[in-house]
Amino acid sequence: MRLKDRVAFVTGAASGLGRAIAMRYAAEGAKVAVADLNAEQAELTANGIAELGGQAIGVGVDVSDEDQVNAAVERTVDTFGTVDVLVSNAGIQIVKPVEAFTLAEWRKMLAVHLDGAFLTTRACLPHMYRQKRGSIIYMGSAHAKEASKLKAPYVTAKHGLLGLCRVVAKEGAEHGVRANVICPGYVRTPLVDKQIPEQARALGLSEEEVVRTIMLGNTVDGVFTTEEDIAELALLFAAFKTNALTGQSLLASHGWFME
Ligand code: NAD
Repeated sequence: MRLKDRVAFVTGAASGLGRAIAMRYAAEGAKVAVADLNAEQAELTANGIAELGGQAIGVGVDVSDEDQVNAAVERTVDTFGTVDVLVSNAGIQIVKPVEAFTLAEWRKMLAVHLDGAFLTTRACLPHMYRQKRGSIIYMGSAHAKEASKLKAPYVTAKHGLLGLCRVVAKEGAEHGVRANVICPGYVRTPLVDKQIPEQARALGLSEEEVVRTIMLGNTVDGVFTTEEDIAELALLFAAFKTNALTGQSLLASHGWFME
């Protein structure tokens, strides 16, 4: 049990990568706040964890709303006593060429990905600083390091998370807090499934071509990264015992992007 009795606040945990991380953490002994805009799904995920013998609560929250984030973290601390691990994972995607984005769409993308990361970090840090222990994990993307057509605000926001992570790593070190970014390649979650027909339309390709050429074309083996791969990395960072990895980002993309 690598996270025994640790408390984890995982955003976007009602679906996809966040849910896989929440379930993995719970299986490793953590008490988990399953935080998501979709409160009903969050509750279902928390119940699913409880049925497997874990401890979890569902927390409805919009990560781009200051008051909601503060209240969600407070509820977690009231329930479980503290917060040791933050996984800032909630995300959305809008695909279209730069010139077609409205300002409202641009702002929404940055609000969910960047405001959400800042607000959850700010709400969790005082609890971590007080106990001199904490791990903050941002869900980046291969798009934190590489660009693709049609994803201007997403690529911009994901690049921004690398900067936030590095500052939190520097400021947090003296308080025992580490920060990392996970950078997945394509994983078949609802977020990606939704994009396949959208990209096919925008690029004039078939859906099969989008998967083969756009999503997997640059991988070494034509294979999708999985939710389990990402949960494993999230566990590695959360349970790591020293500052050796703090400030670092790690790509998991079947070689789609290498550094
Ligand atoms: P998903 O759509 O399966 O899950 C995203 C979750 O975030 C949903 O449950 C949704 O309700 C929640 N959410 C959306 N807006 C929210 C808000 N304002 N407040 C709270 N919750 C909100 O997607 P996923 O693929 O699991 O994506 C999770 C993260 O991983 C995202 O940050 C995404 O950018 C990143 N990512 C995904 C992939 C991939 O291939 N799937 C690759 C790289 C990075």
